[in-house]
Amino acid sequence: MDKIIQIETPTPFGIGNANSFLIVGDTLSIVDVGTNFPAAEEAMIQAISEQGYEVTDIEQIILTHHHPDHIGLTDLFTNATVLGHAYNDFFLKRNEAFFEYQARFYLNQLREEGVPSAYNRWIEKMTREVAYMGSKPLTTILKDGDPIPGHPHLRAVETLGHAQSHLMFVNENERYAFGGDLLIQLIASNPLIEPPLDPTMPRPKSQLQYNASLKKLASYELETVFSGHGDAVLNSVELIEQRLNKQQSRAEKVLALIDAPLSAFEITERVFPTKISQQLGLTLSSTIGQLDYLVEQNRLKATLNHEGVLLYERT
Ligand SMILES: [Zn+2]
Repeated sequence: MDKIIQIETPTPFGIGNANSFLIVGDTLSIVDVGTNFPAAEEAMIQAISEQGYEVTDIEQIILTHHHPDHIGLTDLFTNATVLGHAYNDFFLKRNEAFFEYQARFYLNQLREEGVPSAYNRWIEKMTREVAYMGSKPLTTILKDGDPIPGHPHLRAVETLGHAQSHLMFVNENERYAFGGDLLIQLIASNPLIEPPLDPTMPRPKSQLQYNASLKKLASYELETVFSGHGDAVLNSVELIEQRLNKQQSRAEKVLALIDAPLSAFEITERVFPTKISQQLGLTLSSTIGQLDYLVEQNRLKATLNHEGVLLYERT
């Protein structure tokens, strides 16, 4: 049986600390590697040495998703292979073409969402976090269902929504999973709008993906879900039900505010009248999640106007 040790490292973000997990088995692995900044690096080195290891002893990095508080310190583990979803590599490799693609994607999104051009500076903000990411790329691309080398019964399960790279790692025999940011006890994890892995595909409907991923996690009826932040979740089935119900009631509130054809931006202004100017990305993502959900349920329809703005109205 593998031994699991939780390591917490600070982040410069509102979420607080991030978790990594040492897995001591036939292979010495670490799930997620914190943020690339000095305080996290010190905490990581310290925590690993307290367990009697050095960072060079780690043989394998296993990534739950590409956000900076999870892929930051890949370069610290010089002897480790790096395993994760193919999408991580866009950020670890920092390919110029991908950043152009990403900027174009967000610019098109903002236009379609009816966001005034005064907000275009947000695109810069959406790409700035790169400094906190590692730059050691993947050595192994993991797909849904792939076994994790060195850890019998541990498998990758694709769980998109919070991120387009999101995997969880499930051990069905011992009824636990490393859940990344799929399910966090203290806060509801938010499905962010991100460009698709395949540029020819339409914008991923993150909220719908996320709901499906939560249901997938619930179906395992696990005892323990080790989270990317905070304590392990010991009541995952119940917590998932709560999260799904909360999302439904949020969607009802959004629907109640739509009395004419409106853009996603206009609807977001009504949902978050004060928060929108401080937190454009988060508030828009949240509203669009509810809009996608309501369109899927045939309670809203969306049509492009002559300026290329999507307008939502009740069916
Ligand atoms: Zn996170």
